[in-house]
Amino acid sequence: MAVGGRSGARRSAPYRVCVLARTRSWQVRVIVTGMTKQVVVTERRRLTAIRAAWLFDGVGSALVANPMVVLDGAAIVGVEFGGTAPAGADVVDLAGATLLPGLVDTHVHLAFDASLDPVARLAARDDEAALAAMAEAGRASLRAGVTTVRDLGDRNYLSLLLRDRADQPTLVAAGPPITSPSGHCHFLGGVAEASAAGVRAAVRRHAERGVDVIKIMASGGTMTPGTRQECAQFDREVLRAAVDEAHRHGLPVTAHAHGTPAIADALAAGVDGMEHVTFWSAEGIDHRDDLLRAIVDQGVAVGATVGMVPVEGVAAPAQVAQRLPGIIENHRRLHHLGARFVAGTDAGIGPVKPHGVLSWAPPMLRQVGLSAAESLRAITSVAAGVCGLAHRKGRIAPGYDADLLVVDGDPLADPAALRRVRAVCARGRWVV
Ligand SMILES: [Zn+2]
Repeated sequence: MAVGGRSGARRSAPYRVCVLARTRSWQVRVIVTGMTKQVVVTERRRLTAIRAAWLFDGVGSALVANPMVVLDGAAIVGVEFGGTAPAGADVVDLAGATLLPGLVDTHVHLAFDASLDPVARLAARDDEAALAAMAEAGRASLRAGVTTVRDLGDRNYLSLLLRDRADQPTLVAAGPPITSPSGHCHFLGGVAEASAAGVRAAVRRHAERGVDVIKIMASGGTMTPGTRQECAQFDREVLRAAVDEAHRHGLPVTAHAHGTPAIADALAAGVDGMEHVTFWSAEGIDHRDDLLRAIVDQGVAVGATVGMVPVEGVAAPAQVAQRLPGIIENHRRLHHLGARFVAGTDAGIGPVKPHGVLSWAPPMLRQVGLSAAESLRAITSVAAGVCGLAHRKGRIAPGYDADLLVVDGDPLADPAALRRVRAVCARGRWVV
């Protein structure tokens, strides 16, 4: 039996599935969603039993030996240790390997191609070419074991076209980020008039298009000339109107927020999550314990921009490098206070951020004080919760989607093991 959890996104209405009867060739299930009950008779596929040496289940603190994970199509139906495979199941023996849940990146941009100038490269592509490049970015994520991504900024709602495609990760999509005229990432097309009526209309447009989450640019950003990270882009009341309108449509809101005024306003507006959270000032980094405490008290998800591949000849911009110690100090404090911490890599924005970069995040999460297990939970079960998918993703447990990352080695003792990918399964289909 699978039990659906409670979480922010609208896909996650509580539900239960009970198997009433099962033979070799068919099964009868009762699906309970809210007050409605449905009896479903389906043909039964052959089960797949996967054996490995070790398992990290997404929520625990240690690896468990001799797992056997049983899949029925796109769903996990059993997890046992040292047991025998169900009669008639196909057995996949991954001797010596470690099983983890497929990874979940809470902040990517499939439309950016991780080149030195992804903005110009996107501008040179028409929608058809952009969509093809985005699909390749999605496949690269999957190959690295990232089976769920939350796209926090595309152009023309293109990422929505990639949802539910078999060759893509599970996609949670924001569409074009809502921004002020000439504001951060205005070139993606999500410009709203900087008034309460303006942002409400923009949120409604996004809701009508069917986005899963609202991304709003509360401050300027590094990628957009003419904007400044330390400056807020909307008045507090305008942000409040955007959040109110999104929540009226059942949509969570995450705010791009670098500068202290933007962070303070986003908190006052009641956002569900914040990205970057650097406390960037004109001279360096601000330290505001009152705001750090408010982030934790309000349960706001903190998307830390971690995960970077080393690329020869590419260094962090001086303005970032100079501020890094201050950013790490704030993030350490946030973690110490008990913040809900996830890794939102910003995959796609440059050569150090290729698609699939999430497996490089744990060492940076360790730097801000997360334990080895906490850093794996941050890129699996905790990230799934932040994406509104706590009931389907980020765990290896009965009822969860059959998303698996299979690696060589112990990813708790050695974070590099996450990059020794042996196989990847996405919704029951082997993609590597
Ligand atoms: Zn971003």
